[in-house]
Amino acid sequence: MKAPDFTLTAGPTPASARTLNALGSQLVYHLDPTFIETFRRTTEKAQAFFRTTNDMLLLQGEGILGLEGAARSLTRPGMHVLNLVQGIYGKGMGQWLESYGCVLHEIEVAYDSAVDPDDVDAYLTAHPEIELVTIVHSETPSGTLSDCSRLGPIARRHGALTLVDALSSIGGSPFEADAWELDVCISGGQKCLGGPVGITMASVSPAAWERILSNENAPRYSYLSLIDWKVAWLENGTFPFTPSVTDVMGLEAALDAMLEEGIENSIARHAHAAAVTRAGVRAMGLELWPVSDEISGNPITAVRVPDGIVHTELSAHIRERYGVMLSTGSSAGNIIHIAHMGPTATGLYPIVGLTALGSGLRDLGVDVDLGAGVEAAMAVLSAGPVGAR
Ligand SMILES: *Cc1c(COP(=O)(O)O)cnc(C)c1O
Repeated sequence: MKAPDFTLTAGPTPASARTLNALGSQLVYHLDPTFIETFRRTTEKAQAFFRTTNDMLLLQGEGILGLEGAARSLTRPGMHVLNLVQGIYGKGMGQWLESYGCVLHEIEVAYDSAVDPDDVDAYLTAHPEIELVTIVHSETPSGTLSDCSRLGPIARRHGALTLVDALSSIGGSPFEADAWELDVCISGGQKCLGGPVGITMASVSPAAWERILSNENAPRYSYLSLIDWKVAWLENGTFPFTPSVTDVMGLEAALDAMLEEGIENSIARHAHAAAVTRAGVRAMGLELWPVSDEISGNPITAVRVPDGIVHTELSAHIRERYGVMLSTGSSAGNIIHIAHMGPTATGLYPIVGLTALGSGLRDLGVDVDLGAGVEAAMAVLSAGPVGAR
C-alpha cells in the first residue's frame, strides 16, 4: 500500500519541509557546544509557546513520557488527587494515579462535554485534602477543550497544584501557563507544531519543584525523572543521558517556523481551519461530536459517525478509496476526525478532509449533501486568513 496522499489525523501530523530537513541533520555529539546551544535555544523558544517563565524541560520521548514522569513526580501513595475526566486521556491519567496508590477523586462528564469549573471549585471546597488537580486542556480524541483559564486559578486558590496535559494545545489554541496559574504543563511536537514525535516539553513552576524535590516517591535516577533533568540540565548545563539530537533540531525548526509566523497568527490559523471544517460538517448534514462550539478545540473537528457505521471501518474505507488518512475517536466514542494541525491547518486541507469524509459516508449508504458542505466551508474559508504555509 502506498503512503497516504493526505494525513489529517490526531497526530502525528505532517511536518513542514523545514522541519523534515532539520530532522535529517547530521548527528552530532550531544556534548558538542553547538548542540548544547541548540538545546538551550529550543527550551527558551518552548517557553514562549507555553507563555511561561517557569523552567522548561525537553524530555526525550513522546508525550506520554512527560505526562507519566510528571504524574509520578508529583504524587505519593495516599495523596488525594482530583482528576478531571472528559475523555480518554483524562481517564488514563486516573488509571495511573490509582496505580500509584493515590486516593483518586474524579469529576467525570460525558466525553462530548467539558467539566464545569464551578463544579471543580465546589468539589475542592468540600475536599480540602486534595493536593493536586489533573487536567487535560485539549482532549484530542473528542475534540473538546477544558477551561484552564478558570481551572488554574481555582486550583491555586484551594492550595492544589495543577498538572495539565496540553499535548494538542501548544501552537493551536490560546494557552497561558503563567497567566492561568498552571504548575506543570506538558506538550509534544507532533500535534499543532507539526514537529517530531519523540519529544516532550514540560514546564514546571517553583511550587511544583518544591513538591517534587520533597517527594520521596518522585523518580530519581530514572528515565521518568524530572529531578535528574533539573540537576543535570538546569543546574549543570549537561544531560542525564543522551538526548535525541535530531529530534531537538526538528523541534527547534518547527518552533522557529511558528515564531516567524507569530504564535497568535498560528492560533488564529488553527481556529479558522476549525471554523471552516465545522461549517462544512454541519452543511453536509452531519453532527459534530462536541455539544457546543464553545468547547470545540482548534486542533481537530470530531464528527459523530452516523448510526450503523463503525468509525474504524469508515476511516479504513476512506484511506483505501481516497488516500486520505483520518483518525478516529478510539474508545472515546463512534467518532471520526478531520484534524487541522500544524501545516494542515491552512487553505484547502479542511476541504480535502470534508470531501473525503462525505464521499466515504456516501459510499457506505449515508445521505450527505457533499456540495452544500463544500459551499459552506468555502464561504467561511474565503472570509478568513487564507494562504499556504
Ligand atoms: C497525543 C496526545 C497525548 C500523547 O500521546 P502520544 O502517545 O505521545 O502521542 C496525550 N494527550 C493528548 C491530549 C494527546 O493529544
